[in-house]
Amino acid sequence: MHFADRLQQVETSAIRELFKLLGKPGIISFAGGFPDPAMFDVGGIKAAANQALNDEPGAALQYGATEGYQPLREQLSTFMAAKGAAVAASELIVTTGSQQALDLLGKTMISPGDKVIVEGPTFLATIQCFRLYGADIISAPVDAQGVQTDALEQLIAEHRPKLVYLIPTFGNPSGATLSLERRRRVLELAVQYNTLVVEDDPYGDLYFGEAPPPSLLALSPSVPGSRDLLAHCGSLSKVLSPGLRVGWLIAQPALLANAVMCKQFSDAHTSTFAQATAAQYLKSGRMPATLAHVRQVYGERARAMGQALRRELGDAIEFAEPKGGLFFWARLTGAHGKTKDAAEFAKKAIAQGVAFVPGAPFYAANPDLSTLRLSFATADVAKIEEGIARLGRSL
Ligand code: PMP
Repeated sequence: MHFADRLQQVETSAIRELFKLLGKPGIISFAGGFPDPAMFDVGGIKAAANQALNDEPGAALQYGATEGYQPLREQLSTFMAAKGAAVAASELIVTTGSQQALDLLGKTMISPGDKVIVEGPTFLATIQCFRLYGADIISAPVDAQGVQTDALEQLIAEHRPKLVYLIPTFGNPSGATLSLERRRRVLELAVQYNTLVVEDDPYGDLYFGEAPPPSLLALSPSVPGSRDLLAHCGSLSKVLSPGLRVGWLIAQPALLANAVMCKQFSDAHTSTFAQATAAQYLKSGRMPATLAHVRQVYGERARAMGQALRRELGDAIEFAEPKGGLFFWARLTGAHGKTKDAAEFAKKAIAQGVAFVPGAPFYAANPDLSTLRLSFATADVAKIEEGIARLGRSL
């Protein structure tokens, strides 16, 4: 078979390869990026699906508008308003997961050879998706306060990228949250350099204590001109259910119109049944309690993981405790002659019955081989303690 040339720019994710090893019985996995299925509000989703079939069977089972099912667009507009972002239903389109929003951004914005700046490290599927469209990806450094805006400005000035892709809140994999000051700076840079900024925000609602700073989208009215240079991707995957495949894209009208055109040729529209179910769910008013529940459970697990890591690995590992999201991002220090190579550590850990993802694949360039990502989402506190004890024995 002679496949399309574009496939030469990408390969199957190293993480998926690792997942093949996870079938071993008894393994405790911190490797996935999934929410815990025990968090799914099955009763609420069942009721919402029934309601959708009772109230609007024709619409819920028929083809629908590419832009999205109107009652869901309205519910999402209300959902965003509660997070401080005024977005009319007409300013957002529903996508098949936020992954499709990223793909549509790639399709509409990236020509082969275009430069794109992402965080180092960032979400692997975005790197792969943008590469498929021929992007030349440049990495901007990240610390515990998110992307370093001075370095970002230099990179923007030097490369004049087509877009800058950021996960400002509880990044995957970095766990980092961009400070308020840096958020303002990013919006100013967008205006100063006339650069599109993509804000990917699937984790912003998953905070454990204080709410994070407002999204770039919510802040954009305070930086004149920035709103038109911002695209925002949202998702119900991490807070309600990834299987629903409901995400959304907010962007200025011309970009949204082109994204809709591309979506027509891609999947015509996101499942109307899933959209009608999601709309009924949001309308039912159950979301605040669902969010409170996931925040509490994930918060407990994150604290347990932080304590266990300090106890079992001591100064052989360093990390900033995440204040939300699903991940710890850590670095092996090499203290006491222990390994600094996360890939080697991952192999030993699997042999001890515990899995995590080495950090290297999350970098578009210059990987830090001593980094690793641990998810605390799917194991309960007892499993987290046992799993981290096994990690301690692997190092
Ligand atoms: N962006 C980021 C940063 C993610 O971590 C994920 C899921 N792992 C997605 C987008 C895609 O999520 P979904 O398509 O389920 O909305």
